[in-house]
Amino acid sequence: MRRPLIAGNWKMYKTSEEAVWLATGIKKEISGFKEVDVVLCPPFTALYKVNEVIKDTNIKLGAQNLFWEDEGAYTGEVSAKMLKDCGCQFVIIGHSERRKYFFESDEWVNRKIMSALNNDLAPIVCVGETLEEREKNLTIEVIEKQLKGAFYKLGYEEMKKIVIAYEPVWAIGTGKTALPYQAEEVQNFIRRWLKDNFSIDCADNLRILYGGSVKPSNIKELMREEDIDGALVGGASLEVDSFTSIVRNSIN
Ligand code: PEP
Repeated sequence: MRRPLIAGNWKMYKTSEEAVWLATGIKKEISGFKEVDVVLCPPFTALYKVNEVIKDTNIKLGAQNLFWEDEGAYTGEVSAKMLKDCGCQFVIIGHSERRKYFFESDEWVNRKIMSALNNDLAPIVCVGETLEEREKNLTIEVIEKQLKGAFYKLGYEEMKKIVIAYEPVWAIGTGKTALPYQAEEVQNFIRRWLKDNFSIDCADNLRILYGGSVKPSNIKELMREEDIDGALVGGASLEVDSFTSIVRNSIN
């Protein structure tokens, strides 16, 4: 039985004061809620302060990106070691916005995953097709290429810490959610791919989240699908009410 996981990706929103306010509100509402793993991913600048708010609760801290070197002359970058130092346990890697605006390749995603794992951070690895790719029937091909690139040279032990987020690019921030069966189709493919390339255990235990305009009103039906184990939530994670309702509604 896979434990549900709901992660909030706050993207480039919230000053540290606003972030503390949001984290405090979320903590009040759901810190006693034990059935679901909850991860908050504020911007780098708010990690330390948000950690102060949630550190004695079962809500976990995640970052939205990292650079693969532990330290060095890499102006503007933040390492896995630094994220650990702020209290992070998770890190989002390969989000479509990073692939699109910062040209992150599958090879970079792979290096970032390795660095996260070497520093005991659990990567939330994002994969997903664009609308154009879906319309050309390339979805499975694109997802398979991203999976192969991301998990190149990883072993079964390393895969145990991984979370995958299937995020169709056309559904991110657009208000257009994939229909549950559309998400399930791809997430079932991902699980079969894990079985073929790693092991049955890996496929059975690894959590696959859905991301793309998840709201309190659609999480229930998404979670009814066999291969959807939770959600990576963008817009709706920025308000206490909507995010905590998603967490509550994720239990069917
Ligand atoms: C995301 O940023 O990962 C995301 C899924 O955003 P939204 O929920 O706003 O579509």
